[in-house]
Amino acid sequence: MRAKRSKKYRKLMHQYELAFGFREPYQVLVDSNFLQAVHSFKMELIPYLERTLQGKVKPLLTKCSLAKIMANQPLNPRTNNPVRPAQLPPPTVLPLRHCTHNEDETPIDEVECLLSLLSPSADVKRNKEHYILATADPATPKAAAQDANAKKRKRGVDEGEVALRKSRMFRSAARAIPGVPIVYVKRSVMVLEPMSSLSEELRDGYENGKFRAGLNDEAVNKKGGEGAKTKKGMKKVKGPNPLSVKKPKKRVNESGSSRPAKKRDAEGSRAEDGDERAGDGDGDSAPKPKRRRRHHNRGARTDGDGEEPSGGGDTVAMEE
Ligand SMILES: [Zn+2]
Repeated sequence: MRAKRSKKYRKLMHQYELAFGFREPYQVLVDSNFLQAVHSFKMELIPYLERTLQGKVKPLLTKCSLAKIMANQPLNPRTNNPVRPAQLPPPTVLPLRHCTHNEDETPIDEVECLLSLLSPSADVKRNKEHYILATADPATPKAAAQDANAKKRKRGVDEGEVALRKSRMFRSAARAIPGVPIVYVKRSVMVLEPMSSLSEELRDGYENGKFRAGLNDEAVNKKGGEGAKTKKGMKKVKGPNPLSVKKPKKRVNESGSSRPAKKRDAEGSRAEDGDERAGDGDGDSAPKPKRRRRHHNRGARTDGDGEEPSGGGDTVAMEE
């Protein structure tokens, strides 16, 4: 697969993941036409699917698809069981997806079966199980009927056209369910269809919604956060306002962001500073670290100068 295309597909699957909740391993419902095409173009089922979907896959075959595949198989005369067709991979590669559409669990039409799995609810079309559909146009019966006479060939073409029409209708019905990635085999290439316009609308809606919701969430969070902060930590965080909060705040201010403000403040109001010092001197219960530093300085100075505040120096020593 060319790099450009794989990048495109990866992007597309990423959109399905974001907007519709797809997750690896992707569950891929493969139909009988898809298996036939994969077989006739000699593609390996899982590697091709994984390259197309750019991720791990879990292919599934419904019981009704299996019934369709086995319907025209000749019986093995010895076992009296239908011969396993070459295009049907073993169950280890392609497990059965059990589906029950009626009480006696008789298989129903493959297309109806798959559509009912893609959108279980008739009211709201929604791909709840995050299935990916893998399908293909039916093999043209022309080639098979080539050797037959003209009449038969004509009938074959008609049948082929009916099958083709049905296959096209199937795909457009699948497109009408939002969020159904469609893989199909087109002229020996496995492709991933672009998102249907319906899916795109939903995706865009989701993205806008997310954007809006994101904004709202942020706004709410901000408000909530601020509210909480102001309630709890008015003293803590709002500290920068120097005048009103000074004393109770000191501890916080020391580690906090309010330093520049304080400097400015100190320049602006010396008197205030003086007060602060006085206050420091007054209260024994005032926060210690800062005072300690000051005392320390004084003490250092006094160490050199003389004895006068030596008492202070002593207390500092004791405090430390
Ligand atoms: Zn079924």
